Amino acid sequence: TPVSVEHVLSEAVDRSRLLAEQTGITVLARPEPGLLVCGNEIQLTTAVGNLVDNAIAYSPERTRVGVTSRVTTDADGTEWVELAVTDQGIGIAEPELDRVFERFYRIDPARSRATGGTGLGLAIVKHIATNHGGGVSVWSVVGSGSTFTIRLPLAGRDAEAGDVAAEVAAPALPASVIDT
Ligand code: ATP
Ligand code: MG
Repeated sequence: TPVSVEHVLSEAVDRSRLLAEQTGITVLARPEPGLLVCGNEIQLTTAVGNLVDNAIAYSPERTRVGVTSRVTTDADGTEWVELAVTDQGIGIAEPELDRVFERFYRIDPARSRATGGTGLGLAIVKHIATNHGGGVSVWSVVGSGSTFTIRLPLAGRDAEAGDVAAEVAAPALPASVIDT
């Protein structure tokens, strides 16, 4: 089933509105209009929502979270949609970067405001991305912030949104260091 990426992003951001308001964190969605992926809208919204929840939970108050989507093209011409959630939070040290997608793995819970998490959020994100023919990656600098990216095969573009897409600048995302 074709799913609107724009819709997924706005749903996921809406869902975290209360959490964002409580922490004074501004969540900004900047989707490239008209992108379609194939799959389950509820699952994809859950995946992006988990990333937004983390971005809020592991960031100081009154920082910003950016949620973007854009298209990238492989060397072999395959087009992918990259959904990225970027925060200005505590960051993740390199030894932990490849472990955060493991079930129940949490980095020193005392370090963050987030208590009572189960350590399942990112495992679910990875599971959903993989089930949709894609993957997840993370890039982070300790004390500076993190970017989590979900990559999904581009299923098409909504023709009506085509003209608007060119006006939206692509975000300058860093290269991924972990790609699962
Ligand atoms: P929950 O199951 O409620 O999501 P959780 O947030 O602890 O619990 P995950 O979402 O899987 O579990 O994240 C695993 C761990 O990775 C977190 O405990 C945290 O240490 C780290 N982490 C995840 N996202 C970020 C982020 N945006 N910035 C810094 N650390 C993060
Ligand atoms: Mg989480």
